[in-house]
Amino acid sequence: MGEGLRKDGIAPGRLPADQYAANFGDLHPPLARHEALVEADRCYFCFDAPCQTACPTSIDIPMFIREILTDNPLGAAETIFEQNILGGMCARVCPTEQLCEEACVRETAEGKPVKIGQLQRYATDTAMAAEAQFFTRAAPTGKRVAVVGAGPAGLAAAHRLALHGHDVVIHDGRPKPGGLNEYGIASYKAPGGFAQAEVDYVTALGGISIETGKLLGEDFTLAELGGSFDAVFLGLGLGGVNALRAEGEDADGVDNAIDFIATLRQADDLAALPVGRRVVVIGGGMTAVDAAVQSRLLGAEEVTIVYRRGKEHMNASGYEQDLAASKGVTIRHWLAPRRVLTEAGRVSGIELGYMALDETGALRPTGETTVIACDQVFKAIGQTLATDGGGVALAGGKIAVDAEGRTSMPGVWAGGDCAAGGDDLTVTAVAEGRDAAESIHRFLSGGSNG
Ligand SMILES: Cc1cc2nc3c(=O)[nH]c(=O)nc-3n(C[C@H](O)[C@H](O)[C@H](O)COP(=O)(O)OP(=O)(O)OC[C@H]3O[C@@H](n4cnc5c(N)ncnc54)[C@H](O)[C@@H]3O)c2cc1C
Ligand code: SF4
Repeated sequence: MGEGLRKDGIAPGRLPADQYAANFGDLHPPLARHEALVEADRCYFCFDAPCQTACPTSIDIPMFIREILTDNPLGAAETIFEQNILGGMCARVCPTEQLCEEACVRETAEGKPVKIGQLQRYATDTAMAAEAQFFTRAAPTGKRVAVVGAGPAGLAAAHRLALHGHDVVIHDGRPKPGGLNEYGIASYKAPGGFAQAEVDYVTALGGISIETGKLLGEDFTLAELGGSFDAVFLGLGLGGVNALRAEGEDADGVDNAIDFIATLRQADDLAALPVGRRVVVIGGGMTAVDAAVQSRLLGAEEVTIVYRRGKEHMNASGYEQDLAASKGVTIRHWLAPRRVLTEAGRVSGIELGYMALDETGALRPTGETTVIACDQVFKAIGQTLATDGGGVALAGGKIAVDAEGRTSMPGVWAGGDCAAGGDDLTVTAVAEGRDAAESIHRFLSGGSNG
């Protein structure tokens, strides 16, 4: 039995002690002032800018880039935060290559977009470091709103509601606020405790209190909230995990990618975190890529992502797939799990069936199989709604909402991953939380909730 990288089974301490900090450091170092000025100078300040249209929160991108160019990063931050109060996290985690930067005319013309995400980070980091606050609450309205879920959707909703003068209490089942910003996003995208710093920045506005360790459905009900608050916003995210539906999935060494990532995000000592020598991750989305890359960074010798369809069908962007490849992760397509193989009750491999599209376009097993030897299997095949909150109507397994985020229950709104429609992205959750808050504000100001 080898040591370190070559130690069989699932073991901690695969790397030299000083390697962990280097592996989990910032994926993209921030731009220095002169780099930001040079990059901002590449922008054409387009009229009807396609980058702005492509941003789910509609940030005035040409405006904030011009403010950076005139050496006014605080003004730029204000422009960003007006639309997206979590602009700091979005600058780090947005798949910009599929959103603003894909739409940038410089991308179309020369294949090299303006680095909008990096510039956004430059502006927002400058403002947060200076503790600059740009917004003042309206006079108190005397109305109280309960927000359930302190993820991006809940935080964005809470900020906008507090801005309008309402008092907001956020309830979250986890010990820390931030949602997947704190427990899900890959460590190298937001290192240095950024998620908590951002929660502090958002709540510094005032009028927002956060109660953690309080689970809707266990510690309180929607009916109780309805009795003591004037409106409720649900930003519950997706707490459930899909099953593999493969024989042997309960074996020791088969784990949820989401739980692995959450543990990793909360670990004080990464060297103490066990990981397999050979890891197989089942799935094709961002969670699969993050679990695979972080397994490699923890010292797993061989990491393979297995996805049942082709490269072009993967939810993980081309950029994320390239990132995985650059970290030494192998991605294999057209393979679905059939059976987890075990020796003495522990994972020793996974049997996979080859898949293909038939003439009707349906995915079918071809009947051929293959085996990948491994010590650990991560399931990353999608998340599901863990609770309907106590009676709101669902659509397609998520909470049904109208264009303003209103649920089937009067006085209750929802947004972010738990709500039907929209991409499961941080920036979309922010946009939906913010827009639902505007709808709640209209309702509390005497309008109707439908
Ligand atoms: C591993 C992973 C990596 C990702 N990487 C990216 C990325 O790089 N870029 C990107 O744009 N998006 C990424 N995403 C998606 C992104 O994190 C989500 O779209 C976003 O966090 C959704 O925000 P939300 O507020 O709707 O939900 P969440 O962030 O999930 O927050 C929901 C909150 O509600 C709380 N909650 C749930 N149920 C209850 C209850 N019953 N009572 C009380 N509180 C409750 C939870 O504790 C949580 O704090 C990733 C997702 C995962 C899983
Ligand atoms: S599309 Fe590109 S060049 Fe045009 S305003 Fe946006 S960032 Fe600038």
